[in-house]
Amino acid sequence: ISLSPKEVDIVVIGGGQSGLAVGYFLRRTGRSFVILDAGSAPGGSWNQGWDSLRLFSPAEASSLPGWPMPRPATDIGEFPSRQQVVDYLTQYESRYKLPIERPVRVRQVTVSGNGYAIETDRGSWQANAVVNTTGTASHPVVPPYPGQTDYTGVQLHSGSYRSPEDLAGQRVLIVGGGNSGAQILADVSRVAQTVWVTLNEPTFLPDDVDGRVLFSRATERYQTLQTGETPKPTGNLGDIVMVPTVRDARSRDVLHAVRPFERITRTGVQWADGRTEDVDTIIWCTGFRPATDYLRPLGIVDTQGRIATDGTKATQLPGLWLVGYGAWTGFASATLIGVGRSARTTADEVSTYLHQHTPAFT
Ligand code: FAD
Repeated sequence: ISLSPKEVDIVVIGGGQSGLAVGYFLRRTGRSFVILDAGSAPGGSWNQGWDSLRLFSPAEASSLPGWPMPRPATDIGEFPSRQQVVDYLTQYESRYKLPIERPVRVRQVTVSGNGYAIETDRGSWQANAVVNTTGTASHPVVPPYPGQTDYTGVQLHSGSYRSPEDLAGQRVLIVGGGNSGAQILADVSRVAQTVWVTLNEPTFLPDDVDGRVLFSRATERYQTLQTGETPKPTGNLGDIVMVPTVRDARSRDVLHAVRPFERITRTGVQWADGRTEDVDTIIWCTGFRPATDYLRPLGIVDTQGRIATDGTKATQLPGLWLVGYGAWTGFASATLIGVGRSARTTADEVSTYLHQHTPAFT
């Protein structure tokens, strides 16, 4: 590992779909850049995810810029599987010869002159601009409940759920009313006794509404917002897409949710009416927060792991962008089809910035 920092115009931190989309557009700027990825293989957090996980939109509506995702040769009717996404991202990075170094984990980023010093577990880099695309999957969120630490059963987060096999015959509580909650409930309810806990009544989209429709609605909202009008309320990306496994769960009449318990006991939960119920496993499908801890030394990360941005550009420090973290960094930016738009504007902004910027090093 070389001791002196490697100098490059732009460091992109994170080599999942968002980092690849940014890299695709940075290639055109003629600027030197490197993508540092903690993952040992391509695919970002698509390498996690449960076995039966499928995209909620067809291949042609789940593509990164430049190269449409090939349709699954085998099951045409089905939406692509998790593995097909990993294969697509793997081919994508070699197709565009993206300069990726992995596994490289960024430990911290600090201001250095009028650029940034990037410390990693495999040496350091010096850059004039930094684009963060580290996603959220490595930062699961579990809401606090009284009694949680006394619970003697098993607790796992949706981010580490793989398959229902080892839950057969158990009593399982599934907490969370988004797509993960619905899909994991559909999976587990085939082999175990399940109770689904959601803060509010879950919203199911009509059967013919999949990721494509959600994306075009999000585009409409975006365009209306650009004109300064107020968009009409439509379903949002958090509403439940009726993918085949969730439709099957509906036909088995398991898509019923109850409101949260008061507290967790040693062996289960206590409901608002005082009743207690034993459960063997609790699966928290309660989301994630941005993986931005390594940016804390910059003093601009809030308690939710977010940074104030205008679009994808940090507002409190120059030369820093965040792509792919969800609505606060661009609508639908945490989706394959949506991230392309914010990746393009980010690359344009970086290029303009570097044009006007005195480099931290020559
Ligand atoms: P990630 O894929 O998480 O990639 C981030 C990369 O950054 C990882 O490789 C990680 O190793 C790396 N990293 C993190 N920290 C560091 C560090 N300190 N230093 C270096 N590298 C680091 N989207 C769709 O378009 N369609 C769907 O159907 C869909 N279904 C989804 C289902 C589930 C259950 C989930 C959770 C998400 C789904 N998404 C879907 C959303 C989205 O596509 C994924 O979350 C996607 O993985 C986000 O890509 P990303 O590149 O932003 O982040």
